[in-house]
Amino acid sequence: MRFSALRIFKEGLTGNMNWEPHWRNPSPKSKYDVIIVGGGGHGLSTAYYLAKNHGIRNVAVLEKGHLGSGNIGRNTTIVRSNYLLPGNSEFYSHSLKLWEGLEADLNYNVMMSQRGLIMLCHSDGQRDAFVRRANAMRSRGDDAQMLSVQDLRKLLPYLNYNSARFPIYGGLLQKRAGTARHDAVAWGYARAADQRGVDLIQNCEVTGFNINSGRITGVETTRGIIEANKVAIVVAGRSSQVAQLAGIRLPIESHILQAFVTEGLKPIINNVVSFGMGHFYISQSDKGGLVFGGDLDGYASYAQRGNLPLLEHVFEAGMALMPMIGKAKVLRSWGGIMDMSPDGSPIIDKTSVGGLFINCGWCYGGFKAVPASGYAYAHLIATDNHFHTAKNFRFERFQTGYHLMDEEGTGSQHNLH
Ligand SMILES: Cc1cc2nc3c(=O)[nH]c(=O)nc-3n(C[C@H](O)[C@H](O)[C@H](O)COP(=O)(O)OP(=O)(O)OC[C@H]3O[C@@H](n4cnc5c(N)ncnc54)[C@H](O)[C@@H]3O)c2cc1C
Repeated sequence: MRFSALRIFKEGLTGNMNWEPHWRNPSPKSKYDVIIVGGGGHGLSTAYYLAKNHGIRNVAVLEKGHLGSGNIGRNTTIVRSNYLLPGNSEFYSHSLKLWEGLEADLNYNVMMSQRGLIMLCHSDGQRDAFVRRANAMRSRGDDAQMLSVQDLRKLLPYLNYNSARFPIYGGLLQKRAGTARHDAVAWGYARAADQRGVDLIQNCEVTGFNINSGRITGVETTRGIIEANKVAIVVAGRSSQVAQLAGIRLPIESHILQAFVTEGLKPIINNVVSFGMGHFYISQSDKGGLVFGGDLDGYASYAQRGNLPLLEHVFEAGMALMPMIGKAKVLRSWGGIMDMSPDGSPIIDKTSVGGLFINCGWCYGGFKAVPASGYAYAHLIATDNHFHTAKNFRFERFQTGYHLMDEEGTGSQHNLH
């Protein structure tokens, strides 16, 4: 089933009765070439690129809940490639290019909206750091533009420019950045992987790994034992717990991140805006809700819900930056479990168990990484070699200290990244 304007028009005239389900609901086979543990954005994109780029189609994605029930359906949907440090920068640059062709590639409307992202700066030092970042972005072929206060007043008239505490000195705009519809991304990859023969198996929790002479032979699940030549873990906030089942200890802490959405309003915020003096970022959804978030809750937890003090902290940041937001009514808030790594950058690597791979450590920023992460992880699983954009995403950097990519400069404090 392909989506096209003609098909939508025809279905509209005939009562929308002939659409088919997006994917099959298969029972697990006894053996696969590759099993992917975790049906989030990264697991589904990995399955898709395994089939598309490497012709490996005897693949199962095992998901303990339903597809898209994890962080892929809980994030604030920001897509960007405004990274500074080598290692991260080429990876996110590749990801944004994949985003730009994603809808045509998947034949699916992921509502990619390149509305521009503006990072605000509030001191001379911060502006200098942004100029450096903008130069780095442009020198690798990404777009970046410094904005003056006069530019900002035209673009974002609702900001508080008279704040003595947080004066606005300017901003860094990446026009190609923006948002995409998070669960549509999961559905689009799921459908495209299914069409290439991948089995998407929901309500199937992996409870153990079968390892023989140091090599993976399969997994134990709530739906029985399934054999596999290779197994790829990609379970985001649950990474430490799942890796532990294979006897592997990860340098990951799990923390809660919350998001908030207001009632639907008329269009007011046309870009994605992030506050440089606090961790606050905001955009407006196509339904009109203001979608925003802030810091981690600050303590390790596996609960998919947040606490009230952090809610107050995020609202304070919003009020300091754009007092008009105080008139909007918050409709909903929710939490997701973030897999925080010591340098705030991800891991895509082999493990000490032969044929067992891991992809984790996405911290706050794994949504924008979904295309490039699946692309690089599929490459590693299929070829045993690291894809060039992800060659530094290895465990060894935490042992040697080389290739650490600490964008925030906060060291190994998971909660500060
Ligand atoms: C509130 C919030 C806001 C965010 N905002 C942004 C943003 O604006 N931009 C951005 O780039 N990133 C953002 N992120 C981060 C991003 O959402 C995550 O980094 C990314 O989604 C994680 O990868 P995933 O999609 O594969 O994870 P998930 O969707 O969590 O997928 C992992 C899956 O593994 C499954 N699983 C776990 N254990 C098992 C098991 N034993 N067996 C089988 N399945 C298992 C889970 O059920 C889950 O479905 C945000 C996250 C949150 C929570």
